[in-house]
Amino acid sequence: MEAQKKTRDRDYVFHNLTVSLCPTCLNRVMAKVIIKDGSVYLLKRCEEHGEMTSLLEEDAEYYLSTPQYNKPGTKCKVQTEIKFGCPFDCGLCPDHEQHGCIGLIEVTNFCDLKCPNCYASSGVGDFLTMGKIEKMMDFLIDSEEGEGEILQISGGEPTTHPKVLDILRLAKSKSFKCVMLNTNGLRIAEDESFAKALGEFRGGFEVYLQFDGFKESTYEDLRGKDLLAIKKKAIQNLAKYKVPMTLVATVKKGINDDEVGDIVKFAMDTKFIRGVNFQPIAFFGRLSSTADPVTRVTLSGIINRIEKQTKGELKKSDFVPLPCHPDKIALTYLFKEKDKYIPITRKIDVRNKLSLINNTMAFRAEDLLKESLLGLWSASTVMSSAKALKELSCCIPLNLGSLTQDERMEYVDENTFRISIVSFLDGYNFDLKSIKQECIHFVTPDLKKIPFSTYNLIHREHGAK
Ligand code: SF4
Ligand code: SF4
Repeated sequence: MEAQKKTRDRDYVFHNLTVSLCPTCLNRVMAKVIIKDGSVYLLKRCEEHGEMTSLLEEDAEYYLSTPQYNKPGTKCKVQTEIKFGCPFDCGLCPDHEQHGCIGLIEVTNFCDLKCPNCYASSGVGDFLTMGKIEKMMDFLIDSEEGEGEILQISGGEPTTHPKVLDILRLAKSKSFKCVMLNTNGLRIAEDESFAKALGEFRGGFEVYLQFDGFKESTYEDLRGKDLLAIKKKAIQNLAKYKVPMTLVATVKKGINDDEVGDIVKFAMDTKFIRGVNFQPIAFFGRLSSTADPVTRVTLSGIINRIEKQTKGELKKSDFVPLPCHPDKIALTYLFKEKDKYIPITRKIDVRNKLSLINNTMAFRAEDLLKESLLGLWSASTVMSSAKALKELSCCIPLNLGSLTQDERMEYVDENTFRISIVSFLDGYNFDLKSIKQECIHFVTPDLKKIPFSTYNLIHREHGAK
């Protein structure tokens, strides 16, 4: 009887139901969210293109933990009406649940590389005028009710724009909390005077530097040629002029998923690298025809690889889903304690502090500390202010308040570190519930804000192949 019963059981647990897309025709299809062998999959069926299975998360335990980090979204101004239904009304339309934590302005589609995995299919393209760029910046700030969060100057390759320094100067003159320059690093490596010029933007500025690993084969696959020496030269030039940077790694199964631990260690050991951002590869643009939807790397898979490859120095439990988009962004902050980085999650129970973490990616480790010190957590059952002070005394210099702005920046540059993992939705892992919370938005020249994933999947014109 027992053997007979087992054969009648399905080999998965039916967990939930959502709406996804057919990756071929991009029509909406119903999708079952199922859990099988410890991973989460979407089972979907398109009337025209048949049944398909897509991996949603490698680690079901992590996936199931994310809803507890959900909190009310932040409103912002919208630009379109609800007409065709999500995801075809971007955007933003009134149905979107989350404001923009990061706004991207692509100042050109031109690029001096032609990466096989470029989500923007960049290559050729024009340069936006200063007038147009300023309109886009002002629109972004206005759409966020005057409170600009992070602005990323992006492309194509933005450093090929003849006025890139003027663009950064303009961005810094606006009320953004932080301005970032997304770059492949070629110009920074080849032109030291450009790296020096970036030094003028220190304080609320970072270079978001593409850096995928150390193996020649990694760069050959992801970028079309070996770029490691160029990346290292770019880092050296930026460090020379004290320009803070975050390394940004696209992670692809079988290519560089064995390098995430080494990337973290290298970044922690290198001055002026403030953090690492990992992005599981998404199948947009030139890559959409080469997808491996069932064996791909996912956010939770990267966390588990970091734990394994750092031999437990960083643990899965150190990473926290970000409340603004909990199932697609995870992060941890670290502080230096006796020359060793310690995740702040081991000092503070961030899970009980969600109301203090605004819907923002601009929230920094030093902000968490500041709020503790200001006694904002005094009502906490977990940690009183006095206790917070005691527990955090390892992480902050006693004279922090009396340091000059430059000294404080230097302290933060040398003693804090951030690891984030941001996952995007393509035609395979698309989940309608999740896309409505996506908080990384493109600002388009016709003044719309479009979520990163739907822009690359549906709304972008993939011109240069
Ligand atoms: S993704 Fe957001 S902005 Fe786009 S259609 Fe859906 S709800 Fe609207
Ligand atoms: S991924 Fe970045 S560096 Fe590579 S082609 Fe696209 S825009 Fe250029």
